[in-house]
Amino acid sequence: MNGVAAAPAATGQRRGKILFWLRAIAGHAALGGIYLAAYVGLDWLSFFEEFRGLDVTLWNPQPALTLILIIQRGTAYTPYAPAAPFLSDWIVRDFPLSLAGTLAYDGIFAVGYVALAFLMRQFRSITADDARVQDMVWLVSTIVLGCLIISSACAETLELLGIIKEHRVRQIIGAFWIGDASGILAFLPFFITWPDALRTWRRGTSRQRIIDLSVFAFTVAFALFIVFGIDDARSPGFFYLLFIPVCWAAVRLGVGGAATACVTVQLVLVLTLDLLDYPPQEFRPFQVMMLALTGTGLLIGTVITQRGRAEAALRAREAELSRLGRVTSLGAMGSALAHQISQPIASVATYAHAAQRMVAAEAPDLGRLNEVLSNIAGDARRAGEILRRLRDFIAHGGQQTQSIDVTALLQRSVRTARESESGHVLDIRLRAALLPAVMGDELQLEQVFLNLLRNAIDATAQIPAGRRRIAIETTATDGAVEIAIEDNGAGIAANFEPLLFEPFETTKATGMGLGLSISRQIVESHGGKLWYERGEGGGARFVVRLPSVKGALP
Ligand code: ADP
Repeated sequence: MNGVAAAPAATGQRRGKILFWLRAIAGHAALGGIYLAAYVGLDWLSFFEEFRGLDVTLWNPQPALTLILIIQRGTAYTPYAPAAPFLSDWIVRDFPLSLAGTLAYDGIFAVGYVALAFLMRQFRSITADDARVQDMVWLVSTIVLGCLIISSACAETLELLGIIKEHRVRQIIGAFWIGDASGILAFLPFFITWPDALRTWRRGTSRQRIIDLSVFAFTVAFALFIVFGIDDARSPGFFYLLFIPVCWAAVRLGVGGAATACVTVQLVLVLTLDLLDYPPQEFRPFQVMMLALTGTGLLIGTVITQRGRAEAALRAREAELSRLGRVTSLGAMGSALAHQISQPIASVATYAHAAQRMVAAEAPDLGRLNEVLSNIAGDARRAGEILRRLRDFIAHGGQQTQSIDVTALLQRSVRTARESESGHVLDIRLRAALLPAVMGDELQLEQVFLNLLRNAIDATAQIPAGRRRIAIETTATDGAVEIAIEDNGAGIAANFEPLLFEPFETTKATGMGLGLSISRQIVESHGGKLWYERGEGGGARFVVRLPSVKGALP
């Protein structure tokens, strides 16, 4: 039985393996094909000011593709590297050398860039997220030095093949070196960092994005106008103006922005030079300046990215510290917990006692009993909910944010306060304006109002029953709502005022001194403020100010 079942399983496994390999080979070939097409396309685009039909031009960015393919996709793509210049020589230049010459020249060229790619595989991590200045310095120096070595080897080969004379070797090395180094320096970091640059750019508001693009486009156009439109010396005299857009992009978007700006400026510059028919001897100083601009832009961008990362790490540390702070005040929270849930637990005990008495009666009123039992369930749920929120608060200060109708919340708090202080004759007046909605955690804000109301009730306890007053007034101010709770108690002694919001500061025999400190913490975590003012009649007045949702009615 087992053998019969195992046979189809083994066949299925084999088929799965074959499919896997076929897919891998197809993927490999497809990417290789894209690389070859892009290489030939970029070579065709940048094939001007060439030296005797050879691939020695003053701007040669396509080796960046070879580097990026091997650096990011792995050494398995190495065989495509010699095929690319060979294909280019055929399609773009129609084989300017003999077959042996082409094979020797392209072979050395490909071996040079493959070796450079192997060396640079350690820079794979240069993305906007982990760019470091020292890595960028290494990347720039490796490219500049690597291009010098490859250009020297290729020029020597051309001399050995008898294609160039000895006195031209240095000139060829110069053109080759600058052309390849400036092209690669612009394109390689761009290929590595553009997804990060795009992500950073998208993070901005649409207004910021429009400003960024406009500043960049305007400064590039302005610089080109000055360099080519006004300065007729045909020299890169005002070239330094092109540092403005590159530095702008570097400062705004970090290394990814700098790399994108360098590629764009280089493309625009090369196209302009070509359109204006600049001869190679005048073209070259621009390319040398471009090399300096690219190197500088990349370094500034990397510094900005590194600083941004350090700031983010600092913010994360601050958040962690604040979390630790909350955990450290766990003891205080424990007392707070007792303070907050003592009321529902006391109600549960009272209701349970009442229920016991009802059951013991001769003819129990089942309707009333049911009511009392649902009150018990409601209070137990409430205590559980307070515990859950407190646990959340300790874990991550998390709030269950929702749109809140402040007036309805105040009405509910007044009802709860009245119920819990049933022995106390109270005159609580709520004068509520039409308020916009507030975003926040309803239960936490209810705790704040209940704390303030309970304090006001305590403060008026000494006053004869008919004269106790608590006034709640709400107003909508610009972008916020204010809730003032004022009582006609004795107010707060001047020497106690500075301690009001300090934890464990109380003047009550059974007080814990936590209500106001926790309330302030809650209000501030909602982006609001809680403060004390002396009331007009000498009593205490506490004001809660909460940011409102603009124009949103609850
Ligand atoms: P507790 O009520 O447990 O003492 P709180 O932090 O809520 O803790 O209040 C701290 C102190 O502030 C109180 O002990 C009281 O002296 C004073 N206080 C708060 N509200 C009022 C008020 N409305 N009128 C007078 N004193 C008040």
